[in-house]
Amino acid sequence: MRIVIKIGTSTLAHKSGLLNIRRVEALVKVMSDLKNAGDEIILVSSGAIGMGAGKLSLTDRPSDIPTKQAAAAVGQCELMYTYDKLFSEYNHTVAQILITGEDIENTVRRKNFENTVRRLLELGALPIINENDSIATDEIVIGDNDTLGAIAATAVNADLLILLSDIDGLFTADPHKDKNALLLKRVENITPEIIKMTGGAGSRFGTGGMETKIKAAKIATDAGIDMVIANGKDPSVLYDIIDGKNVGTRFISGKVE
Ligand code: GLU
Repeated sequence: MRIVIKIGTSTLAHKSGLLNIRRVEALVKVMSDLKNAGDEIILVSSGAIGMGAGKLSLTDRPSDIPTKQAAAAVGQCELMYTYDKLFSEYNHTVAQILITGEDIENTVRRKNFENTVRRLLELGALPIINENDSIATDEIVIGDNDTLGAIAATAVNADLLILLSDIDGLFTADPHKDKNALLLKRVENITPEIIKMTGGAGSRFGTGGMETKIKAAKIATDAGIDMVIANGKDPSVLYDIIDGKNVGTRFISGKVE
């Protein structure tokens, strides 16, 4: 299977913004194992701004553009250093690709992006994609990595998109506020009711929230790709998802296998 895995900042970093070493080590181990088993993995990793903010000792996620861009420049290095180091332990080669919204809109650049990812996969490398946050400003921004994950999944014709977050999936209401909130296991159609369930924002250092995840689900399922939202706190959840077990929320593309 060709799988795009998006990991959010809240999964990668502690509330301090600093790297959650135990979590990232476990994630890299599982992804390396999946790759050893023959799956093709493309990672969409957030965390540049959050980790840069942590490393620069900023107390919150920066809101002004120059600080965000500076934090991303610092954090992206830290991210890739960490992935390179950890994946190397399992003999896997990582590759960094940073893109902006403009690259996706421009046909030639989008094609170049697709070609690079495909060639990297042929060469056995593990592409790690993030938005080029040090360059992307409002006009050219994709804005969130859930959408970027869906764009990447579509571009490389993935079999599955997995969004790992700090929430178990899509609930009928915000589970932090409503005890009766129920986890939806399967979503066959993204109806207005589903869109209404998306209130609530992400964590202190992350960007997304449910809204961007549903937007990603729409892009992926429209392209015939199933998408799963699951909690990344236990990285072995990836095995369960790939084995087709009932974890998280699965958005069904309707494509007949
Ligand atoms: N590209 C951003 C970062 O690496 C994250 C965007 C997102 O999490 O949606 O910090």
